[in-house]
Amino acid sequence: MAAGRRVAIIGAGIIGAAIARVLSRFENLQVYILEENYDVGGSASRANSSVIHPGHEEDPDNQPLRARLCVEGNALWRRWCEELEIPVKWVGELMLFERNEDEKEAEKYVEWARRNNVAGVRILYGEDLFKMDSSISRNVKGGVYAPTAGLISPFEAVVALVENAVDNGVRLLTETRVKRIIARNNNIVGVETSTGFIETDIVINAAGLNADQVSHSAGVEPWFRIKPRKGEYVIFDKDAEPKPSLVLHTMPTPITKGVYALTTIHGNLMIGPTAEDLPYESKIDTSTSLKGLNQLVKEAGRILRRTPPRSKIIKFFAGLRPEPPDGKWLIKAYSQPYGFVNVAGIRSPGLTAAPAIANYVLSLLRETYGLRLIEKKGWKPSRRRISTVNEMDYSTLDKRISENPDYGEIICFCNNVSRAEVSEAVERMRAIGVKTITFDGVKLRTTAGFGKCQASRCRIRIALLISEAVGIPLHSVIMKKSSIGIGGIKTLWIESKEGVKND
Ligand SMILES: Cc1cc2nc3c(=O)[nH]c(=O)nc-3n(C[C@H](O)[C@H](O)[C@H](O)COP(=O)(O)OP(=O)(O)OC[C@H]3O[C@@H](n4cnc5c(N)ncnc54)[C@H](O)[C@@H]3O)c2cc1C
Repeated sequence: MAAGRRVAIIGAGIIGAAIARVLSRFENLQVYILEENYDVGGSASRANSSVIHPGHEEDPDNQPLRARLCVEGNALWRRWCEELEIPVKWVGELMLFERNEDEKEAEKYVEWARRNNVAGVRILYGEDLFKMDSSISRNVKGGVYAPTAGLISPFEAVVALVENAVDNGVRLLTETRVKRIIARNNNIVGVETSTGFIETDIVINAAGLNADQVSHSAGVEPWFRIKPRKGEYVIFDKDAEPKPSLVLHTMPTPITKGVYALTTIHGNLMIGPTAEDLPYESKIDTSTSLKGLNQLVKEAGRILRRTPPRSKIIKFFAGLRPEPPDGKWLIKAYSQPYGFVNVAGIRSPGLTAAPAIANYVLSLLRETYGLRLIEKKGWKPSRRRISTVNEMDYSTLDKRISENPDYGEIICFCNNVSRAEVSEAVERMRAIGVKTITFDGVKLRTTAGFGKCQASRCRIRIALLISEAVGIPLHSVIMKKSSIGIGGIKTLWIESKEGVKND
């Protein structure tokens, strides 16, 4: 590598990962991602609505940066998803209203679409709506149609970006929590982490909910605080109807884009999110509640012709939006201390805007620090997905099994995930530098455990495969954060050790 600058990106969510990919293009940057968790994927980045927003819901007067980068991000994802084989569906969306008096509000979004250069946005009424999506309630009067909306697999997007960045020379350091930013004579010299001091010239703070603390530790923006805003969701079984063909949602409120009813990239009806402001210090409270569930079912009932019975729910979960003051993203490169960059408070539409935010950060680095960057000659734009048995036709599957019999051994029966896919997920985690292979990492990469039984059957089989692959005892395989997570296995082991007879 030509002599150059060292860049440490804090956080392997969608923002840190997108920035890493963009910076991996240059020969004279030595880029590290520092992530406190076992794995990449982030916090908000793995628990959200998964919508690639068109950009007509961003106020061009109050949020011009969000509006611009949302529209640019929507366009960029089309290329990035192709290059990186990220699952995506460009389905379009309808923002639905039931009362005539909402029409004025709906017109505002058409006007914002015009000002933000979002193509094709218009209001549709009655039969035109029902023809477009038969799952819409007959009580709905009209809807703002935005054809450029998409649905993505958010976790796979982060994984794809990191895999591609690492393939292009970026280093990922997991289980590395940044405690403090260190500057000397007003220049960034490094970061103090849970694993020791790391030298760097530039620090990019993409630490999601913790980005305010990181910024304060650099002595920057002491007024800036991030409030967690919780969003709960419910996911229904694959056989539950209806399955909206478009992204449907209620009218936005001052704090959220409304409640969505959509068919996820994996084919399940998902309803959510709620919007609840939590105290500043509640940055890990992702609990779900009956109140949230009742609210979601009620809201979805306003826009769907019918909602499935609650017995069809297979999962509740919640994500925390990193809400900045006035909803304003803080993206800035500082000269005091020289080399510190905030990409902080990236609330919605951060997933959509991520590729555009990454390009914007690159332009800030060039302008503020005068970087003369040299493009890598052999930079690789593409990355291959794990091939899945679920998507193979008979002859491909037959050929794969003849080459590798593990494709014929199904581990997750709900989602048809084979032993070969689980092994590939483990190999890929190791290849990017994940030190602790978790059940959660395998699940999110393969969809094993995401089906009707929610891993009741495959958890033990995957844990066994991990224990064999890594060479650790079964009871110490980590579920998500701790080994207690696979309590069933651990209990079984402890009981038999103590001589308790298991039937
Ligand atoms: C309920 C909900 C719905 C949403 N829906 C959408 C949507 O449909 N479309 C859309 O465009 N956007 C949506 N968003 C917004 C989008 O998810 C976020 O804007 C985006 O994920 C933010 O990404 P991030 O990388 O900044 O943060 P995160 O994903 O939170 O990643 C930050 C990372 O930093 C790490 N970290 C934190 N502190 C440290 C430290 N000290 N040292 C090392 N690592 C650290 C964390 O472990 C984490 O991995 C939604 C958000 C939520 C919560």
